[in-house]
Amino acid sequence: MSIFSKIAAGEIPSYKVAEDAGHFAFLDINPMAPGHTLVIPRREVDYLFDLSSDEYAELMEFARKVAIKMKKALPCKRIGVAVLGMEVPHAHIHLVPLQSEADMDFRAPKLSLAAEEMKRIADAIAQA
Ligand code: 5GP
Repeated sequence: MSIFSKIAAGEIPSYKVAEDAGHFAFLDINPMAPGHTLVIPRREVDYLFDLSSDEYAELMEFARKVAIKMKKALPCKRIGVAVLGMEVPHAHIHLVPLQSEADMDFRAPKLSLAAEEMKRIADAIAQA
């Protein structure tokens, strides 16, 4: 079971942003910007583009809904979208609130936000 499957199953704690029967969204533990969110299919597939066409379309639609909530809840100009998968072998989409393109630099030092701040952000997105 991947670490993200354990998070989606509630076996490992996370700051949940949204979920449905097939998908789960939660804050990245080392965000590039406050509100940096990861969106995953519950089904454990290593590589995003190994999902079936239907699974891929459903994941993207779920990510679209999460991004709309993020844009409402957080001060940002755009929600950036990225797929890397270099670290965790469970397909996931990065959604990053952007004030400028500098907010989406995967090599820049990551933020470390207090637990209360992460919870506040996750709740604000969830309720948007
Ligand atoms: P990638 O696989 O796309 O290269 O990067 C994986 C991302 O998952 C990183 O941004 C990393 O901070 C995040 N990540 C890794 N382990 C955990 C975890 O246990 N919990 C959360 N919330 N995020 C994680």
